[in-house]
Amino acid sequence: MDKLELKALGKINLGLDILGQLENGYHQVRMVMQTVYLYDRVILEKKKTPGIGIETNLNFLPVNENNIAYRAADLLIKEFGLSDGLRITLDKHIPVAAGMAGGSADAAAVLFGMNRMYELGLSEEELKKRGVSLGADVPYCIMRGTVLAEGIGERLTPLPPLPRCYILIAKPPLSASTETVYDKFDALDEVEHPDIDGIIRGIETSDIRQAAASMGNVLEQVMLPEYPVIGEIKKTMLDAGALGAMMSGSGPTVFGIFDSRSTAKKAALKIRNRNLSRQVYVTNVHNVRRK
Ligand code: ATP
Repeated sequence: MDKLELKALGKINLGLDILGQLENGYHQVRMVMQTVYLYDRVILEKKKTPGIGIETNLNFLPVNENNIAYRAADLLIKEFGLSDGLRITLDKHIPVAAGMAGGSADAAAVLFGMNRMYELGLSEEELKKRGVSLGADVPYCIMRGTVLAEGIGERLTPLPPLPRCYILIAKPPLSASTETVYDKFDALDEVEHPDIDGIIRGIETSDIRQAAASMGNVLEQVMLPEYPVIGEIKKTMLDAGALGAMMSGSGPTVFGIFDSRSTAKKAALKIRNRNLSRQVYVTNVHNVRRK
């Protein structure tokens, strides 16, 4: 096999709590993750000449070792002494620096795809172990689905799939570096913690309303006061009939959960008409694990 095309799916957090910080600076988290059907296309092609080449539709992204997809490929090329070169094409659609794990999803796709293309024989667990050295969300992006993520995000417990629903995603036109958001979180005096167990109970009883009503993201306490547009998008979604609306990850992307596609589409229109965001997508959750 000389060429392989993969879908690198993004995620939203139905819940995000931070329990503390480890000595190495990493945060201990408790997050409910959900894969959504919004994806980057990742194409891997073997080349005769050695080296990794990256092409992407977004000209502001790095195409060297600063691209996490490059680092994923480099890791396997070095470990397995692969002599071919590799061309990686990233057709990006997941909003960048947005709290949707776009980079981690690309890295996961490269690890998964190279394992298949070069017949490396690595199990899912072995891929996840390599993934965590690239980024805390990479193991989850290898696993996908509805998952409780603990530790630094690498301790993964699968949850039952989320009942059928529609996800509206809106990324306001601002970018927030994950590191800065976590630093500001560390400086907060008081923190209100979300009800992660409430979300899990809702999921386990297939009660999407309870799950949506329990959603919470501790990092909103940093981002909402600083960027009012995040609150405005949440309110627009809730007023338009969302069962719940929240910022994903370290933001600034906001998502809403809807029980009908047409209600989600109407809410999307309101967000566009009010000029709150131009990157607006209506999509589904995706619960199919990789085979
Ligand atoms: P997370 O939800 O895991 O915090 P994120 O959505 O905040 O992820 P990404 O989109 O993964 O963030 O990327 C953050 C930064 O990483 C960007 O500023 C970008 O320059 C850099 N980057 C490196 N490789 C990639 C990639 N393949 N796709 C997107 N960004 C990348």
